[in-house]
Amino acid sequence: MGDSGRRPCPIFFCMRYYTQNQYFREHFGTRVQKLSVDGGFTCPNCDGATGSIVGCSFCNNAAFVPSYCQPSKTIASQIEEGIAFHRHRCRTSPLYLVYFQTYSNTYASVDTLRERYLQALQHPSVVGLIVATRPDCINEENLALLCELSKSHYVAVELGIESCYDSTLIAINRGHDVACAFRAVRLVASYGLPVGGHFILGLPGESRTDILKGVGQINQLPLTSVKFHQLQILRGTTMEHQYLTDEQFRNSLLLLSLPTYISLLCDIIERLRPDLVVERLASEVPPRYQAVAERAFRRADGRWIRNEDIPPLVDAELARRGTHQGSKLHILNSK
Ligand code: SF4
Repeated sequence: MGDSGRRPCPIFFCMRYYTQNQYFREHFGTRVQKLSVDGGFTCPNCDGATGSIVGCSFCNNAAFVPSYCQPSKTIASQIEEGIAFHRHRCRTSPLYLVYFQTYSNTYASVDTLRERYLQALQHPSVVGLIVATRPDCINEENLALLCELSKSHYVAVELGIESCYDSTLIAINRGHDVACAFRAVRLVASYGLPVGGHFILGLPGESRTDILKGVGQINQLPLTSVKFHQLQILRGTTMEHQYLTDEQFRNSLLLLSLPTYISLLCDIIERLRPDLVVERLASEVPPRYQAVAERAFRRADGRWIRNEDIPPLVDAELARRGTHQGSKLHILNSK
């Protein structure tokens, strides 16, 4: 990517990395809350279009979405329930972004996409959309629609990239390769839309060194934001079966304890371009979905680590090291 598309490097206000809250405050002048909805889409890795009906080996969509997200409900009622859900958790905001999260939210005809997106944008408190999808479900037609909507609303695309290595994507039955993902990032960015990349840390066969090398590739992409989270082995997935039955598979996983995970996140952030928004650093699912008890992600007192526990731990570790986002970019640049 040339430098022309990049924003100037931000001054990190509260944390030693560029948080999503900071980005939204810069963009909207206030706090903005994301509201997940289920738009009733499916995905080509589940319906046979990629040659697979079992999906990615780690995937269990039900584990990630709040209980109010049900495709049987209208998008309007999911938004109302979502606002109430966040109010209950004291996450009130004057502005909301509807997050089409489950499955592949550009995997339908443009007419269907238009109808579902417009339903979301009709709500008076909704100022925009974040559309999560697979890289092979992005094309000129759906981007033209998103671009049209972006003239009046904030519209961003989030792409599931997951890994910078083809061998990993094959191992998790992803159904597309790295080149496809990187092409999609460039295509979305060429339409002037913010584009986020989602990555999973600890996928089978990836070492810490592999992950850190991947940061160099991430930095070269015209991404606006990145999301990282630890691999979770969820009930009902192919990966659960592999974990329980295949010792070689178990040995191919990076078993990250909480301290090693925090340390890895800090190593990544230090190597990350400073203008990349770091949206997320962890993921949590209700314990009933956990196939493998993540001892690693419990505190000494046995309490589960929550998503919101991770950023302060990362910030404290960066402070202890005297570093911040991008402070070790030169390590990658000199290789
Ligand atoms: S992770 Fe996404 S692309 Fe993979 S099977 Fe699940 S919904 Fe489909």
